Amino acid sequence: MLCRKNTILVAAALLIIIVVSLGYITNQEIKELVGQQFNKQQQLLVRQSAIGVDSFFYDRSILIKKLGNDISNESTEDMPRHFVYFSRTLKCYSCMGFINDTGIIVTSYPVTQSWIYTNISETGLSRLFDCAEKKGNVCITTYLPENQDNFRSTIGMPVYSNNTFRGVLFANIEMTTISEWLLDDVVSEEDGYVYVISESGQCLYDEAHKEIIGKEYIGNFCDNDSSFAHVIKKQIKEKEGTCYYLDEYTKEPRIAIYTSVEFDDTDWIICLSVPEAKVEKLVYSVYKKQILFIVIVISSIIFGSGIIISMFSKWNKELEMEVESKTVDLRRSNTELETANTKLKELDRLKSEFISMVSHELRTPLTSIKLSLDVLKILSDHKKDENTKEEMLQIIERNIDRQNRLIGDLLDVSRLESGNLKLNCNPVDLIDIIKESVESMRKVAEDKGIRIFVDTQEDSMPIMADYDRLVQVLVNLINNALKFTREGEICIQAQMVNGHPQVTVSDTGIGIPHDELEFIFDKFYQVDGGSSREFGGSGLGLAVCKGIIEQHGGSIRVESEIGKGSRFIIQFKS
Ligand code: ADP
Repeated sequence: MLCRKNTILVAAALLIIIVVSLGYITNQEIKELVGQQFNKQQQLLVRQSAIGVDSFFYDRSILIKKLGNDISNESTEDMPRHFVYFSRTLKCYSCMGFINDTGIIVTSYPVTQSWIYTNISETGLSRLFDCAEKKGNVCITTYLPENQDNFRSTIGMPVYSNNTFRGVLFANIEMTTISEWLLDDVVSEEDGYVYVISESGQCLYDEAHKEIIGKEYIGNFCDNDSSFAHVIKKQIKEKEGTCYYLDEYTKEPRIAIYTSVEFDDTDWIICLSVPEAKVEKLVYSVYKKQILFIVIVISSIIFGSGIIISMFSKWNKELEMEVESKTVDLRRSNTELETANTKLKELDRLKSEFISMVSHELRTPLTSIKLSLDVLKILSDHKKDENTKEEMLQIIERNIDRQNRLIGDLLDVSRLESGNLKLNCNPVDLIDIIKESVESMRKVAEDKGIRIFVDTQEDSMPIMADYDRLVQVLVNLINNALKFTREGEICIQAQMVNGHPQVTVSDTGIGIPHDELEFIFDKFYQVDGGSSREFGGSGLGLAVCKGIIEQHGGSIRVESEIGKGSRFIIQFKS
């Protein structure tokens, strides 16, 4: 059992090791996969923003182009009407205006007095004007107006009237509007932030660090050899990618995902910075589930092993109990065999005793008969000696009776054993049976000087029984009582006990030792058996009595005390 238990424990331990190792390997793969997946997702977000910015400028360019055509023949005074409509409809322009062919802002909406009639060389619109005039088409420029901390993109469209260049229509879009519309909601604040850099590495927009807008990152935000400086350099060079860096201020490892967006001759790089912890968080949430799964699997293995072990121990216990009960049975059988053997030996001994006793019992009456006959022969001529003759004849009769009884008992025992003792049951009176039995033993009792008295409270006790056989039983008991009593009396009682007839034969004789009581109903058993025996008898009488009473459906038992006497109790069924 111990060996089986150990095997199960080893198997369970191996399974646990396999599960844990598999869990560890899978964890590594999951970490990589989650990282890749996360980067891809962020890349998609950035691309989406870039596409958004691109389409935003494309749409606005088309609209400005249309507006340019609409106002081509309008007077300068009428132009604001179109601007108002456009501004109000599209809501993304901070200012719209018209620069005449000499580079003077002649009208604008909203009207900014400081702008009107200003030469564009003082406003930062020269590059746009030149670009639009030269290109003959829509142009977009981005610049940081003086005394402001937010970039502005301006879309310019050359306006022609009858193929003559009239000037440039311009519309300003603040970077704050672009970020509000397209960049601020890419990720939530705790998940990261968006920043936009120009192709020269200048910060156009930074959601988290507004103070850096308009400045170069390298040298202002980070050192030249910092990990973020390397990221900026890479972002300027490559169109798209993912970089890892350490935020110098928060000392937090972060991931920068970037993609470039080109419109007109402008090149922006839109970047998304997210903390690496975000990936770890995701990985840990997967880990947690996996650990929970592993714990469940391990618990199941432990629980399963426990059940198997307890099942085996239960079977083992049952087996042990079965073996134990079989051993007990075997021991009992052995004891029974030993008892049977002892009984057989005892029976053998009793038989030997019986043979010697029977030889003695058969010879004694014959010797008496022979002697009496010899005496009778001698006395046959002397007619005067009649008394002696009578005495001899009585001796002969007594001894013939004695032998008759012995042969009768032997026959009865053999009939009882073969089941051939047939009862002749009739309604009889127990009192009559007692009286007849006592009467037949009266003479023997008188000769011994022992009184027999009958004590019955009933006048008659009717039962169904074999009259002669019950007389045989009572005579046998009274005979024994007389045989083993030297002085005193013999009492025969008859009464109803619990509705059943009961007869007791008590004497004041030698009594029977306590440890012999259970054997005296066995055939051939005599208390002081063997050659030293003082009293005659065959050891069959009580066995015959017991057999007859039990065939009547009754029972017989004895109570006795050494030196005080014995009491045989017969109980009938009804
Ligand atoms: P037996 O012919 O030897 O009397 P029984 O079967 O009648 O054979 O009795 C068996 C033995 O029981 C007797 O030998 C005797 O030792 C004992 N016994 C029977 N009745 C009495 C009695 N009334 N008092 C003492 N011993 C008795």
